[in-house]
Amino acid sequence: KPFAPSKVSQYRKMKLEWRNNVSLGRSQIQGLGLYAKKDIEKHTMIIEYTGLIIRNHIADRNERIYEEHNRGIYMFRLDDNRVIDATLQGGLARYVNHSCDPNCVTDCVQIDRENKILIIANRKIQKGEELTYDYKFDVEDDQHKIPCLCGAANCRKWMN
Ligand SMILES: [Zn+2]
Repeated sequence: KPFAPSKVSQYRKMKLEWRNNVSLGRSQIQGLGLYAKKDIEKHTMIIEYTGLIIRNHIADRNERIYEEHNRGIYMFRLDDNRVIDATLQGGLARYVNHSCDPNCVTDCVQIDRENKILIIANRKIQKGEELTYDYKFDVEDDQHKIPCLCGAANCRKWMN
């Protein structure tokens, strides 16, 4: 059984190599999407979800501003107090779409005392597959439902 590298060393390797893992393209699901540029083994760290780290009240304010300007909003909750806002200065990970039957999961890993959000393969992924994870949005009332277009056999039909 091969020696499992620590999360820190996996992270450092991924930061050097992530450009070889992904390519941006027109999504099969919605808008733009991120695709596997090569075969990716299960449990591989693929890319970090990067952006501006902001506190909750700033995230709420930004969300209102983006809505007023009809911008696509790209945010990921980092912890109870902070959000990664990738809307204006995010990396490519913001283009990974939601699926009810995803090929990736997200994980929060501490590197140099900072929380990092990583997108990790939850199975072997073939070159050319679109990358997805489950957004796990809170369930909303009927007026605020977002339809899910993921196309999976087990699709829950709504993202929230
Ligand atoms: Zn779905």
